[in-house]
Amino acid sequence: MALTRTELWHRAQKVIPGGVNSPVRAMRGVGLDEPFFVKRGDGATLETADGRTLLDWVQSWGPLIFGHADPETVEAVREAALDGTSFGAPTEREVELAQELVDAVPSVELVRLVSSGTEAAMSAVRLARGFTHRDRVIKFAGCYHGHADGFLVSAGSGLATLGIPASPGVPSGVTNDTIVCEYNDVESVAAAVAEYGEGLAAIIVEPIAGNMGCVPPAPGFLEALRLLCDASGALLIFDEVISGFRVARGGAQERLGVTPDLTVLGKIVGGGLPLAAFGGRADVMRVLAPSGSVYQAGTLSGNPIATAAGLSVLRRLRDDDVYAELERRSARLADGLAPFGRVQRVGAMLTLFAGRDEPVERFTELDTDRYGELFRGLLERDIYIAPSQYECLFPSLAHGDDEIDATIAAVSALFEDGNG
Ligand SMILES: *Cc1c(COP(=O)(O)O)cnc(C)c1O
Repeated sequence: MALTRTELWHRAQKVIPGGVNSPVRAMRGVGLDEPFFVKRGDGATLETADGRTLLDWVQSWGPLIFGHADPETVEAVREAALDGTSFGAPTEREVELAQELVDAVPSVELVRLVSSGTEAAMSAVRLARGFTHRDRVIKFAGCYHGHADGFLVSAGSGLATLGIPASPGVPSGVTNDTIVCEYNDVESVAAAVAEYGEGLAAIIVEPIAGNMGCVPPAPGFLEALRLLCDASGALLIFDEVISGFRVARGGAQERLGVTPDLTVLGKIVGGGLPLAAFGGRADVMRVLAPSGSVYQAGTLSGNPIATAAGLSVLRRLRDDDVYAELERRSARLADGLAPFGRVQRVGAMLTLFAGRDEPVERFTELDTDRYGELFRGLLERDIYIAPSQYECLFPSLAHGDDEIDATIAAVSALFEDGNG
């Protein structure tokens, strides 16, 4: 007999730290003692180990633009696996996937494949440092670029200060070179560039932030970063791990018309398998080994199964109708949720800031108790939203009008009950 959810959870905690392989999965941020375990997925829904069917707005945190167990992706994976699961030698599909990324993303002339967004962001920064022969990097409070040491920083006090480690185990020697600025605050960046510009290798930013809730860039913000980089000789890096192939085929840079020097991609590009990428200007990318001297490598990079899944998805995203449809569905969801708080949306990434009126323009302490109540109320109604107020909902092509309207109705019912 299969284990119950509680039995699974007890066993998990005995063999895995905190019972999970990534902290947010424990669902503590929304007040749960015990997460659900997934048995399988199908389109917009998940089936849990205890036999429930949930409408899923998380979609593995963004990768699944065609929903769970998308038949074309599954078939591509199955066919690829029959020919071998890893070679550590060049394959045709890697070249095809690289071509797909170069064709789609405006800034990308050359691209390298890796296995996670963390790895891609970490490698892009190393490359920027190697190319510029400088060490310092500006990042923004509330933007997430994976868990490499140099990104795990909190802002020090003051406008333009050096970062301090945000986690034990991160040496201050590493975060000393990371400067934390406020999102959408050009003045804080200008001050940091004035102070550290000569040693500045890069400014890295989520061009549409998705990790402090969905926070769009203010008009002129990305353009100002572009100018500050050009003036100081630093590289502009867009982390499009969420926005890439989601807000447009060419990501935020296509949609908003600002071109970075380097771009970090992940999530959708792997079609739900472990694959990510970083790419950009050819003169910069050529500095990578073996054509250049900046070292970067990976046993499973360009893995044949992951590239098969990625290609299956990205080829279908050449169709503009896909984005028109994602836009329509996401707008329907956003409009329906608007009475219950502040909704911020760009394309198919959106956040309901429950019970809030004011816009969220930069990293802000949010009402997580209120969101936790909403999360638990929806889960009781078999609807699974992100288990954190600081995340997005990810509409996919598997979410039809019925799923959207059912979600709006459930939120509405909860607010009428006073639970929202
Ligand atoms: C998810 C995410 C990452 C990290 O990707 P992983 O594959 O989880 O390592 C980096 N940047 C952004 C913007 C992300 O949302």
